[in-house]
Amino acid sequence: MGLAEAVREAGVLGAGGAGFPAHVKYQRDAEILIVNGAECEPLAHKDEAILAERAADVVAAVAALREELGAREVIIAVKGSRSGPLQELYGGVKIHPLAEFYPAGDEAVLVYEVTGRRMPAAGIPPDVGVVVSNAETIWNVARAGRGKKVTTTWVTVGGAVAEPFTAEVPLGTTAAFLIAEAGGPTVPAYVVFDGGPMMGEEINDPAAFGVQQTTGLILVLPWDSPAAVKARLPLEHVRTVAGSACTQCRDCTELCPRYLLGYDVQPHLSMRRFFSWGEEADPAFFAPASGCTGCGLCELYACPMEIAPRRVQNYLRGRLEGTMPAEGLGEAHPERGGRRVPGGRLRRRLDVASWDGGAPPRDLREAPRRLVLNLVQAYARPLEGAVREGDVVEPGQAVAEPAAGDERGVPVHASLGGRVVAANDRTVEIDRTQVAGYAGA
Ligand code: SF4
Ligand code: SF4
Repeated sequence: MGLAEAVREAGVLGAGGAGFPAHVKYQRDAEILIVNGAECEPLAHKDEAILAERAADVVAAVAALREELGAREVIIAVKGSRSGPLQELYGGVKIHPLAEFYPAGDEAVLVYEVTGRRMPAAGIPPDVGVVVSNAETIWNVARAGRGKKVTTTWVTVGGAVAEPFTAEVPLGTTAAFLIAEAGGPTVPAYVVFDGGPMMGEEINDPAAFGVQQTTGLILVLPWDSPAAVKARLPLEHVRTVAGSACTQCRDCTELCPRYLLGYDVQPHLSMRRFFSWGEEADPAFFAPASGCTGCGLCELYACPMEIAPRRVQNYLRGRLEGTMPAEGLGEAHPERGGRRVPGGRLRRRLDVASWDGGAPPRDLREAPRRLVLNLVQAYARPLEGAVREGDVVEPGQAVAEPAAGDERGVPVHASLGGRVVAANDRTVEIDRTQVAGYAGA
């Protein structure tokens, strides 16, 4: 079995973004493999922990992938402040120290920073001879090469909690469990995000949310923090404000990382068109929104009126449904270097700088009693359930498989043994205490 097939059978999804299936990335040759350890979301530390604590696995995986891709070069890209200690651990692999700005981990930005190449509009890194994989994905590739299934993920629990930490935890460990392990919230009214303050999404029910491969950060934020306030604005309110408060100053566009790279992404135009033409307009008018990555800089950093251009971009992108890709790639902006947004300034703007003291490691691999495994994969058809309520499952046993003929879906495996207490087309819930011999943890 080739490495790409082993990666698929192990159930590896990209851990750094929307969960693109890793085996698909590894089916094309590439000149350069970039290990993305940029981790630019404020308060995130899990890639830092993986690169420090699982160096032997990462080295083994990049060697195997280099051969699989026919790559001439492997580069590990990390924040400059984290690059020093890694030089010793990765003697034979090039470490690229990135400037500390947001969003250094965006694929287009990263490829440009590391190689000077720019992906075509609506393109992907392999279009310019590069494969980018997140550090955790690479670690999972190492395990897949040894025949191991993906049963754990790395996560930082941070923000307004008593004792932030970073840990390798079983897939499906609930956000509520992790927050309790972190000593609970330190503020009376809070929201919980799956992800960072810039691109994370609010978790409605932390007890029902099980961590996935794409979960790198469980973030507790005060109810009235800037990111939490923006996340819950109703779209109708956003539209009204787009007309009444947007001054067309262009600050959102002038700081947009995609615009600065030469892509036709101009949120100030989207704001004007969304308000003027409304939802009935021909989607072609909104085509440039499809190049937006949802990084949030326009909304949470750039806009002096504190309104929500990213929300508009997201909405318009949804309307386009991939039918209207952005076109054109101009020159990178001559002032791009000076307009990169420093991480420290962003953390202060988001009011999260006081929680930036790190997140020490914990070992929780056997701790949770209850797991909620996610079966929804962004690039796949609905998975087919392989277990039913009442079944007893072993660690590593498949609980759902890709549909016949689906080349992108990957299987989901039980992360720990237990009894299936609920199963539907979106989740499988496992209770570890309902089997003989459970000794607790
Ligand atoms: S920065 Fe804000 S006010 Fe200025 S054009 Fe963009 S959305 Fe409008
Ligand atoms: S969220 Fe805003 S700043 Fe980020 S890519 Fe989209 S338009 Fe540009």
